[in-house]
Amino acid sequence: MVKKVLKFGGTSVGTIKRIQHVAALIKKELSLDNKIIVIVSAMAGKTNELIKLSSEISDKFSKRELDVLLTSGEQVSCALLSGALINLKVKAKSWLNWQIPILTSGEHSNARIINMHVEKINEFLNDGGVAVIPGFQGISKQGDITTIGRGGSDATAVATAKIFNADTCEIYTDVDGVFSTDPNKIPVAKKIDKISYDEMLELSSLGAKVMQSSAVQTAMIYDIPLEVKSTFTERKGTKIFNQENIDYSKSVTGVAYSKDDAKITITGVEDKPGVAANLFEPLNKAQINVDMVIQNISSDQKTTDITFTVKRDDILKTKMILKENTKINYKKIIQNDKVAKISIVGAGMVSTPGVTYRMFRALSDEKINILAISTSEIKLSVLIEEDNTLKAIKKLHTTFDLD
Ligand code: ADP
Ligand code: ASP
Ligand code: MG
Repeated sequence: MVKKVLKFGGTSVGTIKRIQHVAALIKKELSLDNKIIVIVSAMAGKTNELIKLSSEISDKFSKRELDVLLTSGEQVSCALLSGALINLKVKAKSWLNWQIPILTSGEHSNARIINMHVEKINEFLNDGGVAVIPGFQGISKQGDITTIGRGGSDATAVATAKIFNADTCEIYTDVDGVFSTDPNKIPVAKKIDKISYDEMLELSSLGAKVMQSSAVQTAMIYDIPLEVKSTFTERKGTKIFNQENIDYSKSVTGVAYSKDDAKITITGVEDKPGVAANLFEPLNKAQINVDMVIQNISSDQKTTDITFTVKRDDILKTKMILKENTKINYKKIIQNDKVAKISIVGAGMVSTPGVTYRMFRALSDEKINILAISTSEIKLSVLIEEDNTLKAIKKLHTTFDLD
């Protein structure tokens, strides 16, 4: 008997017909003598719809109340799926986050699961029942409802697999697995059969939302193998696991992109020690994450320009902090939020020389200007004008033999 965690994303439970399809899939898994814990997301579009409602009341809507509101999306899909299973004569039961409970720590909208009570659910599984659990949420020590970040049902699935000591953790979604790039944007994208945690973590952090990055991180820490597969086809999915088992014949495994960055340039900053520290310290204090940084070489040895990127949502706050900063003198602040970050990721990059040059050459062949660069051992990211996103992904995909 195998204990399985099966997670179904928003599109997989997006309509009643799809919920019935998922229920049939679960019934089949149960008939193979498996113990099944199901994690569900809210029906597709529901979370966004609820966020929109809250913003109609205020753009500073209480974070506590927002969490109460958003968790209702998963409550609906849990009950519908559980009801659909019961309708198929499967013993099933849904639990809300506080009934289990799923304990979290950390702030509203960005909490982390720290534990779950297992007894009641294990008892139910031992009796042949299917447990249906809401993704994306929990309850704090103070008894407040919390959410764990967008796309967080993936993290609930991984945490559940760990805490319940499951044998497998399967992430069912609307594509066949993890692809070399977003298959909905680039149809020649290829499905990847196996990928290491490190590569998957880079891809998800850089914009491949097929897996939420904190879920991959937890899976990596606890060595929980994951499988991403389609709810709608029987095709083999993608296995995400420990690096040792991966073939590194390719230098680049995938291309990711994100459009949630913005670029800020501060011109005419004094060129002397301590300026960068004075500039970035208050941003750090305000929990604004600075990603790429470029400092131009000063031509007159007196002033220079500093360019950096932050999340697009943080741009107003960043500008306000810069303007209030009395420790730096500058000429002006220029912002550009029509930018995109394109990244190539691959564990094989470590042992293949020339990847950087090939990426830059490929972009220059397409007359795409690079605005900023950042690198790590297994990834290379460039910032470009947003209009060039698709052209850049296509070109890099072909350049690195991923088509
Ligand atoms: P779910 O609702 O099942 O959690 P998501 O919408 O969060 O699904 O993630 C699946 C989507 O991720 C796909 O529909 C696809 O458009 C997008 N995606 C982005 N990059 C990739 C990639 N490299 N491989 C597969 N899907 C990707
Ligand atoms: N419903 C949540 C969201 O849309 C969580 C999830 O789908 O994983 O972000
Ligand atoms: Mg998702």
